[in-house]
Amino acid sequence: MQIKTFEELKKILKNSNKEIFEIAQEMECQNLDITKEDFRQSVKKTLNAMKDAIKNGLINNQITNGKMGGQDCVKLVKKYKEKPSVFSKLFEKILTYALATSEENARMGKIAACPTAGACGIVPSVLISLFEEFNINTDKQINSLIVAGLIGKIISQKVKPAGAVAGCQAECGTAAAMAAGAAAYLFDYNIDIILNSVSLCLKNILGLTCDPVRGFVEVPCIKRNPFMAIHAITAVELASAGIESVIPTDEVVDAMEQTGALMSPSLKESSLAGLAKTKTAIIMSKACFTKKYYSELKD
Ligand code: SF4
Repeated sequence: MQIKTFEELKKILKNSNKEIFEIAQEMECQNLDITKEDFRQSVKKTLNAMKDAIKNGLINNQITNGKMGGQDCVKLVKKYKEKPSVFSKLFEKILTYALATSEENARMGKIAACPTAGACGIVPSVLISLFEEFNINTDKQINSLIVAGLIGKIISQKVKPAGAVAGCQAECGTAAAMAAGAAAYLFDYNIDIILNSVSLCLKNILGLTCDPVRGFVEVPCIKRNPFMAIHAITAVELASAGIESVIPTDEVVDAMEQTGALMSPSLKESSLAGLAKTKTAIIMSKACFTKKYYSELKD
């Protein structure tokens, strides 16, 4: 069994008394031929990997493999200790957790790809910050990650979540949509608000290119994660006020597919244009072919 569109999901929900996570759970158990307990256990394992990545990333100051990042999370944590964010503790957590996870990824630390490694900080930072700030119990935490997974799965049946296929809109955009829908679920919003959160999120990231400097998942990827996490909660805030996406969710996904197909291959993870071909990026690329660079890399 597969749910291919958001409209289909809406219909299934309307004809049953089940919650969105139950529909996804049943579908996965059936497809994978596993018990509900085993399925939930594996989701919990993923959740724990996300929490561990945050814990490690918050205190790790080590430079990343491509040497273009790795010290920003600790910098932000220090700043908040000295001067808390004017926005809120939740905001502080979302930003630092997103940076922590994506820096861990760039150090080749253990993360949970969600939906990809480059976008791995978005879903965990939003959900885990909300779990902590709103004392969400473990069962509901698992449910929310199942909801995020279902949203990602429906989108990826039409657009593969890969920068090389459809640009960063398909990686960070899908991650932000997953985070937004799951966050809306956490607050018990109905399916219309959940889907409007997803649509608003995706619509406002359409066209985002993938142009990683020197081919490493570092620049712009690491800092893009906290930006997209805030993007996700902006979508939930708007949708929960009754603000609707004029374009329905499935059509937004269609637009993302079309935009990805029209995007030049030089802006789809090939590092042949955009940020990857700026003056600074070219200088950095040349520097990485020196003996000194490789000897430092070994250390
Ligand atoms: S810029 Fe490309 S490599 Fe970096 S996160 Fe986005 S899709 Fe992934």
